[in-house]
Amino acid sequence: MNLMDDIFIHPTSLVETQQIGRGTRIWAFTHIVKGARIGRWCNIGDHCVIEVGVKIADNVVIKHGNKIWEGVTLENGGFVGPSKFSATTTPPKPRCITQTKANYNTRQWLVTTRIHEGATIGAGAMIVAGTVIGEFSVVSAGAVVIHNVPPHALVSGNPGHIQGWVCQCGKLLKFHNQFARCSSCDVSYTKSNNRIKVATF
Ligand SMILES: [Zn+2]
Repeated sequence: MNLMDDIFIHPTSLVETQQIGRGTRIWAFTHIVKGARIGRWCNIGDHCVIEVGVKIADNVVIKHGNKIWEGVTLENGGFVGPSKFSATTTPPKPRCITQTKANYNTRQWLVTTRIHEGATIGAGAMIVAGTVIGEFSVVSAGAVVIHNVPPHALVSGNPGHIQGWVCQCGKLLKFHNQFARCSSCDVSYTKSNNRIKVATF
């Protein structure tokens, strides 16, 4: 057990980055590559791979068996369920044979993916490179996301489609006349053009 500055790093993990915030825990057999940035009070489970250039903010939970590739940013409070979540970083022209070393080093091929504050990614979901996952949205288990997900949207299926809307507390919302009030936390929302936002009165 390696415990320093309130950081827990399991002895079987391979942690090559120095950029880990206080309070973060990294569990068994996880590999975090040099150059990855992990914020404060995160919890990263067993058998994960977090590649160079990945940025993870504070209070993020990544359950066991996830692969998070270069170009991915996870904002505060994101949750990634167990196993197989994979945010790809496939270049627009995915042919290794055309990739010279000079091209590779410029990183111009890299497509970025951003998972905004408070979003939840279900177990086994796949997020295709270049997509934006809106704040407090929920991507269901096994979904394949190929389009941007608006804030608070509930997306499921392959390819993923919007099935409903969720409160910032996680409760499913029921809209009547473009208006919904969460039955759990009383936050109200309005809907317009297939987007929702917190109502201001
Ligand atoms: Zn709520």
